[in-house]
Amino acid sequence: MRMKKKNISVKSRVEDSDGAFMINEEVGHHEINEDYDTNDLSSNVDSDEDVRDNKRHFSKYRAEDMTKGFKFRLGMEFKSLEEFKSALQEHSVLNGKEVRFVKNDLKRVRAICKKGCGFVIMASKVGSSQTFRLKTLVGHKCGRAFGSKSASVEWIAQVLVDRFVNVGGMTVIQIIDEIKKSYSVGITHWKAGRAKKIAMDSLVGDGERQYARLYDYVAELLRVKAGTLKIKANQPQPTLQPRFGSLYMCLEGCKEGFLGSCRPFIGVDGCHLKTSYGGQLLIAVGRYPNDQYFPLAFAVVETECKDTWMWFLT
Ligand SMILES: [Zn+2]
Repeated sequence: MRMKKKNISVKSRVEDSDGAFMINEEVGHHEINEDYDTNDLSSNVDSDEDVRDNKRHFSKYRAEDMTKGFKFRLGMEFKSLEEFKSALQEHSVLNGKEVRFVKNDLKRVRAICKKGCGFVIMASKVGSSQTFRLKTLVGHKCGRAFGSKSASVEWIAQVLVDRFVNVGGMTVIQIIDEIKKSYSVGITHWKAGRAKKIAMDSLVGDGERQYARLYDYVAELLRVKAGTLKIKANQPQPTLQPRFGSLYMCLEGCKEGFLGSCRPFIGVDGCHLKTSYGGQLLIAVGRYPNDQYFPLAFAVVETECKDTWMWFLT
């Protein structure tokens, strides 16, 4: 691990509301951890408008180089402000970091880590050109924010699964908008479409597997005498696979709790289940002495009707 520390002229160092240190870009305080290569670093990286120094080699950023292992380097040049911002955002997503812009104008952009770990990155305009050059860089010291989602398509898919109930009903444009709104990340149509497919596969696939295992689940609960359970499967023709009909569950603990401490009063209601398989949930609740609801029994049925209520209540 290489450490390089330079304190040239500390002009201001303030603690903002998040407890993050915002370091003035003229401050030559560059503490670079092993994430960043310091080989080509010379000492005048803090002179903001220094464009006369042509002796140094400034590496040009290329968008196709952006991967999880990509390393920003001091002096790196970006074709435009947009290119720098999208590089930073992509890099943050890939590495499970969240950054926010504390300065964002046409000449200079500075971002810090949302966790306030000390990460600072600042790029500013080179003279009158459109080029932006990296002038300040302090690496992250925080951990990953999203586990080990390595590629952005998988990461977006995970976001969709975690945050949205109705992924199947979302258009590609909506996905792009939501990701932009929540993570300040612009994604392509292709990525959004791929992510949606992965998210749907994981949601629908899981649902199918879980229905298939329902019999085993009920059998196990009955084996350990966990409560009263009923499961009904439909098999209109012997040649067809049985299909899930209804499930009733009243756990022993709920029954005992109700009989032992609740008023002799049961409320019943039903609601639609918003999954790709539909169905309705019927539930019976009691009120416990603290006047809160006490779940007693529930059933998942195809539709809420007299028959299913009778099946539920008997
Ligand atoms: Zn950080």
